[in-house]
Amino acid sequence: MNVHIEGADDVEHLRSPAALRVAELAAESELFFFHFEHRLELPLPESLGGIEEPRGFEAGILRESKYQAFRHDLLVASFNPTHRAKWTAHELCHVLVGFGHRSGATPFFHVLGAWLAELLPVALWYFFDESGLRRCARHAGQGPRFRAHCEDCEREARRGALETRDAKFVEEGRAFVDRELAAVARSRREGRVLGSRFATIDLASDAVAYVASHRARLESELFERFTSEHFSPGGGLHGDLDALEARVLEVMEGIVRGAAVRPLAGGRYERVAQDLAYRLLLVLEETEGDASRELDRLVSRLAGDRTEASVERVVADYEALAEDYVLPPPEDVFAVGYELPRGYGSAVAQLVSGLHSACPRALEALGDDLDAVVGEFARRDPRIRRPLAHRFAEFLAGREPAASFARFEAAVCHAPRPSPERRAFAIAPSDGDALELAPDAHLVRVAHDVEHEGDPADAPDRPRSYLVRAEDEGEVGVYALSERLADAIQDRDVAPVPAIAEELASLAEAGLFLPKRLAL
Ligand SMILES: [Zn+2]
Ligand SMILES: [Zn+2]
Ligand SMILES: [Zn+2]
Repeated sequence: MNVHIEGADDVEHLRSPAALRVAELAAESELFFFHFEHRLELPLPESLGGIEEPRGFEAGILRESKYQAFRHDLLVASFNPTHRAKWTAHELCHVLVGFGHRSGATPFFHVLGAWLAELLPVALWYFFDESGLRRCARHAGQGPRFRAHCEDCEREARRGALETRDAKFVEEGRAFVDRELAAVARSRREGRVLGSRFATIDLASDAVAYVASHRARLESELFERFTSEHFSPGGGLHGDLDALEARVLEVMEGIVRGAAVRPLAGGRYERVAQDLAYRLLLVLEETEGDASRELDRLVSRLAGDRTEASVERVVADYEALAEDYVLPPPEDVFAVGYELPRGYGSAVAQLVSGLHSACPRALEALGDDLDAVVGEFARRDPRIRRPLAHRFAEFLAGREPAASFARFEAAVCHAPRPSPERRAFAIAPSDGDALELAPDAHLVRVAHDVEHEGDPADAPDRPRSYLVRAEDEGEVGVYALSERLADAIQDRDVAPVPAIAEELASLAEAGLFLPKRLAL
């Protein structure tokens, strides 16, 4: 059975029975993802509590803004390629549950609303998604890894769910939800935030932090208009906490027992219209005069008609408006991270700046083709969990010499962090020692001379191979290899035959190769 959700990697829905069920429910509600790197975050005006610069790329990574990255009221899920696969179901679960709001809601209402809205996605992450999840040999059956990331577990999970389930996780998940709901009830009775804690998770204090960051926005006229005009009944906005709690339980039974869950009202274009309306409201907040009257009309049209045709007309009308008045360019306002009418959707300038921060020489090698090539990449960029520069290098395959530069620069930019095995187990090998590439060394092979100092477009044809890794001191080490040794690494057959023995020995001493078998 294959479920497809726009903007996600299909394989990630198959990792556990719970993830698959979430994806099925999400498909019934026509949910979809925006791509985090393709979406331009519009600055939040100071009057709405905007306190930080919009995020930007650094060394190939687009960091999430610290305080206001996530909005419970945005019903489009986020796909961030630098996050792990567990996020897919978590994000979809958020949208299925929705959020709580009513006119004139107090900060305490918002805290309890944020708490309830986070509850099931977190229970899914730590418990329900663990039942039937394939993990690596070292971590099988042990449950979530919390902070400790495991590449092997990620790879195993992509092979699909296990045949067997582990009822323990389901029981623990239900118990977790019960405890949290009891704590919410007690908090409501006593008029104080009385959280319960599980390991490092404290949903109540997370909810307080959420309201601390979002309060000005949640109490603004903008938010009042957004929530009162742009949501159908049953479309994810819950007017009281009991309704939100009931929805949490409804979606939980849907995930755990396969019970029926009402799809979100309104369909795909209600979510698109909401997203655009919110962005136009942000623009409106900083606009005056005739332009503001026109913008106001566009927002009202999105409220009254949440269809594809209406979205398309609003996009076209904003284009025209931005010609007549000084307004943010449509390329920015409509850079939502998913496809929109009239060719909008991707923050191409943001992608270019991200590539500049990771692989400047590759962009230089593209010369005048840069805009056309990145534009094409933006349209075809696959939804996979790899950093931007690596995806771009793959996209460029065959377009030399830019592809060689991109591959090399991506490897340097995202060199694996040093593993402790390096220092613990490095040896000066003697004849009989079988060696393998260290887990924190990355082989990169290119077709052009990436060390060429002049115009990269003129780099001569010359196959080169390197090992790249982050050094303990933080800088990146690049080790040129003989082609013979590079072939051996690629074939996973690193035997110290005479031709490479000396090269291998010196690299092994530096911990780039480790013994296959640790001697006692
Ligand atoms: Zn698909
Ligand atoms: Zn969450
Ligand atoms: Zn593992």
